[in-house]
Amino acid sequence: MARTALVTGGTRGIGRAISLALKAKGYNVAANYGGNDAAAKAFADETGISVFKFDVADYDAVGAGLKEIEASVGPVDIVVNNAGITRDAPFHKMTRDQWREVIDVDLTSAFNVTRQVWDGMRERNFGRVINISSINGQKGQFTQANYSAAKAGLIGFTRALAYEGAKKGITSNAVAPGYIDTEMLQAVKPEVLEGIIATIPVGRLGKAEEIASICVYLASDEAAFINGATMTVNGAQYIAS
Ligand code: NDP
Repeated sequence: MARTALVTGGTRGIGRAISLALKAKGYNVAANYGGNDAAAKAFADETGISVFKFDVADYDAVGAGLKEIEASVGPVDIVVNNAGITRDAPFHKMTRDQWREVIDVDLTSAFNVTRQVWDGMRERNFGRVINISSINGQKGQFTQANYSAAKAGLIGFTRALAYEGAKKGITSNAVAPGYIDTEMLQAVKPEVLEGIIATIPVGRLGKAEEIASICVYLASDEAAFINGATMTVNGAQYIAS
């Protein structure tokens, strides 16, 4: 029977590409989203992938969403913790709300979702946890103390789970994208973006599909021995050790 994959933030941007790539490989896919109903409906109509609206920052809302997913798509074997937001500000102006929102949506979400599918993965002796981190969690970034902290936190989370899941057939890996051409980058001023592209040796932004393909590989049986890794996908912009 085909395995079930949940992609958080799976209706737009990188998540959308991951949902599509997993579906193309034969997985049953559930795509979560947070609030953009129009985009989610268009995505569902176009792709036939089931969409589930819940706030990944809210543990109980995640639990209710997972119940629905389990009933209509199947128990989750593969989770891609992809939903994320930015609330950039120089640290001397960063508010508690900007800090908290990003930590909740970009980091605590991974606990909220993974914790509630973990027992099932352990029982079935199979699981794939894929956490979408960021180049800016690896190297830090101006105006992103909140985001860099959350994304670096995801890497630590990934490593700890790798140890804990190993004997139960569960792998946990992080993917750290560089700058990828999605709506998230629309928050970046064009002149700043031009400056960023100038620092990418490949000379362009990444494509969402280039992140999706590594996620598909990490989800596969062939990737069973890759556990606790951070896959850097950034056009050589930052080569992490
Ligand atoms: P987008 O802004 O294009 O899409 C974000 C997705 O996350 C949407 O589906 C959105 O739902 C969902 N989402 C946001 N908040 C919540 C929430 N509270 N609950 C549930 N879903 C939510 O982002 P990207 O595709 O660009 O980014 C995807 C991931 O990749 C993020 O974690 C991001 O940090 C990371 N990343 C992105 C990079 C880039 O250059 N784009 C670089 C490095 C990492 P809705 O449609 O309802 O708003």
